[in-house]
Amino acid sequence: MVDWDNGSGLNVTDIDRVHKIATADEAVVTLNWYGAHQRETDGRCPRCGEIMLGPTTRHALSRYAQVYVCDRCGMEESLEKAGITEAKPLTEWCAIKIPSVGGGAWRR
Ligand SMILES: [Zn+2]
Repeated sequence: MVDWDNGSGLNVTDIDRVHKIATADEAVVTLNWYGAHQRETDGRCPRCGEIMLGPTTRHALSRYAQVYVCDRCGMEESLEKAGITEAKPLTEWCAIKIPSVGGGAWRR
């Protein structure tokens, strides 16, 4: 039984994967795991949560983790890395904030 900071509890079994994500470095660990388990087609963008139609490797490889992101997010990352726009914190990515939105979209 895990006692969460908000006072609730939850049973975690040996098939569950749980780790704390409070920092960018901790988010990268999870995003790299997602990258190793992304669907080969019609995968979900871990940054915005949109479905990436077609082969996942046709989309953009993230500049922050070993994971594919949709073309729009790939462009946004380019602008961030060029210093044109402010970077979206990794802890704000869809796969980190609301992983349940995947609805089974992640390959196990
Ligand atoms: Zn995206």
